[in-house]
Amino acid sequence: MRKKFIAGNWKMNLNTADAVTLATGLKNALGTADIDVAICPTMVQLTSVINVVNGSPIGVGAQNVYFENNGAFTGETSIAMLKDIACDYVIIGHSERRHVLGECNETINKKIKAALAGDVKPIFCIGELLEEREAAQTDAVLKTQITKGLKDISAEDMANITIAYEPVWAIGTGKVASPEQAQAAHAFTRETIKALYNDTVAANVRIQYGGSVKPDNAATLLSQPDVDGALVGGASLKVEDFMGIINNA
Ligand code: PEP
Repeated sequence: MRKKFIAGNWKMNLNTADAVTLATGLKNALGTADIDVAICPTMVQLTSVINVVNGSPIGVGAQNVYFENNGAFTGETSIAMLKDIACDYVIIGHSERRHVLGECNETINKKIKAALAGDVKPIFCIGELLEEREAAQTDAVLKTQITKGLKDISAEDMANITIAYEPVWAIGTGKVASPEQAQAAHAFTRETIKALYNDTVAANVRIQYGGSVKPDNAATLLSQPDVDGALVGGASLKVEDFMGIINNA
């Protein structure tokens, strides 16, 4: 039985005071549900948010990382630095990093390997563009992203990876995938993991859905057999909305 996992991607939003207020509100609102929850603020606010949720069941993730440990990489942050501040997760390969900031599958693979080696759990994002879906290329795109992103990653390490299926056309657009579309992509992702690894890895890997998840559509999405949680953008910025999603899980 896979435990549901709801993560909030705050993206490049909120100042530190607002981030602390939001984290505090979530910490106070979160009951004792048997569910994993994480929030992912900007690098600038990671330490403040970690200090707020310390001792609570809420995990904290970064939104990006660099694959080298240290050195002349101006503007970048290493896994060792995230680990040093007790960061639990890191989002890798988000569509905004792939399509706005030009990140490729090979870079994503290096980042996932660095995260695993440094003991920070990757949330590995995949997903097709609208034109790829319309050209019936969704499965091919997902297969390439999964195969290249997970290249040379062991079955053992897969226990520490969450996959987030996020159709790019549904991110921040209000156009959520139908439960059937989400289920089909999740089932295909699990089949691909099974082909790359084995039945056990495929049965255990958690696959989140991301793309305009809100309290009112969360229940049907999260009740699909292969949907194991959600990666939430806009609706993670308000306590009531994020809690509404968590409560529907
Ligand atoms: C995201 O940023 O990963 C995301 C899914 O955003 P939104 O929920 O706003 O579509």
